[in-house]
Amino acid sequence: MLLKDGKIKEACGVFGIYAPGEDLSRLTNYALFALQHRGQESAGIALSDGSSVIVRKGMGLVGEVFPHFDDIMDIPSLAALGHVRYSTTGESCPENAQPLLIRYYRGSLAVAHNGNIANSTELRENLEREGSIFQTTTDSELIAHLVARYGNDNMEASLKKALQRLKGSYVFLFLTENKLIGVRDPYGVRPLSLGKWGGYYVLASETCAFDTIGAEMIRDIEPGEMVTIDESGIRSVPVMPSTRTALCIFEFIYFARPDSNIHGRNVHLIRKELGRQLAREHPVDADLVTGVPDSSLSAASGFAEEMGLSYEMGLIKNRYIGRTFIQPRQESRNLGVQLKLNPVRKVVEGKRVVIVDDSIVRGTTSKRLVQMLFHAGAREVHMRISSPQIISPCYYGIDISTYEELIGSSRKVAEICRKIGATTLGYLSHQGMLCAVGLPPDSLCMACFTGDYPIKECVHARGKL
Ligand code: AMP
Repeated sequence: MLLKDGKIKEACGVFGIYAPGEDLSRLTNYALFALQHRGQESAGIALSDGSSVIVRKGMGLVGEVFPHFDDIMDIPSLAALGHVRYSTTGESCPENAQPLLIRYYRGSLAVAHNGNIANSTELRENLEREGSIFQTTTDSELIAHLVARYGNDNMEASLKKALQRLKGSYVFLFLTENKLIGVRDPYGVRPLSLGKWGGYYVLASETCAFDTIGAEMIRDIEPGEMVTIDESGIRSVPVMPSTRTALCIFEFIYFARPDSNIHGRNVHLIRKELGRQLAREHPVDADLVTGVPDSSLSAASGFAEEMGLSYEMGLIKNRYIGRTFIQPRQESRNLGVQLKLNPVRKVVEGKRVVIVDDSIVRGTTSKRLVQMLFHAGAREVHMRISSPQIISPCYYGIDISTYEELIGSSRKVAEICRKIGATTLGYLSHQGMLCAVGLPPDSLCMACFTGDYPIKECVHARGKL
């Protein structure tokens, strides 16, 4: 999605199901609850009944949006798709909520998208020049216009032609009156899995959504693959040749839920191994280990186990506060950390504390946490990060935006340590991260840690190369 400030940010969650006659709005609603960590800004559901497609969507969390739409609950449908959108510092408006629904001469098409289209500006300009009128600023609308343009072919053929014009990272789910289609870009940057629910097929960004609705995981959708699910079952076609995959390694480090499996690898176990590896690389004489809830708890437990130290609840998270990372102003970010996390004084007082976090982006969280732990009486605060130093922005869907904002883009570890005020600081090495993740380096995107961008067009589009 392209925001008004020119920043491209999108890291959403998608879900789709084809199960005629079932209460799909409710099932999709439950699945979206499971994917809520992938986006808190807006939520939406599209339903088809064989002859039409309807969409209900709104701003806010899944639990806030759908109570307003009880008209669609309990309606038997043929297929459904759902979307949660990631909260960002930029434009946040109802018109950009997804799924997007278009009606054109071939019928209706609902679109849900996770990823970034690098050449969206250029494509949009071309389409506008040729007469298209856009209603939103989303990439989803772009694909919808392209599909309409190639609409003389059948849906899959139109989609294939439309997708071939896109450069970037994407997972798309499409819903027509009678079919559900899922597609993953040839690099496979964002995850998409296929599951089975009571004999019917489901698609989701993460397998935790399958567990929530009682579906079974079948396999991951391959990079460059398109699957069509309809009354005749499931068909898979390669839409684009995949010469090099680039699954986002940050999904394992921070973004995905620990109970999800991606490419057969459980996220919690990988994070635990990241923590163990970190302890091997940066051991420390300390009294206890604590993690930053929730994303680094797995790594913190691995670190503690490897070091033979006790793993403590040194920080408590207030679950009713939104994400601090996304606050647009620095003062509100600082305050956000304080509102969200509080040290347990009786646990840390007088102790040499190791605090494990999954990443340092701007440094706001680490700095505040170190201050808070010292304030609560900690004797030493050793910061350990279960990923390498983030040196470059992400153009493929994770909200890590500019070089200037990144504390690690131009500083050495000692300087970062001084800035955040920790007693010591240790980052996991690239090699350590790869060992823990256990996938070949050339199948992953690690651009935020290395500056080496696998999809060059995205970087050109942002004018950084
Ligand atoms: P910062 O405070 O800017 O250094 O951000 C680091 C904190 O934000 C860590 O505690 C991470 O768990 C979390 N984090 C890392 N990446 C993201 C992201 N893309 N969106 C939201 N939070 C993130």
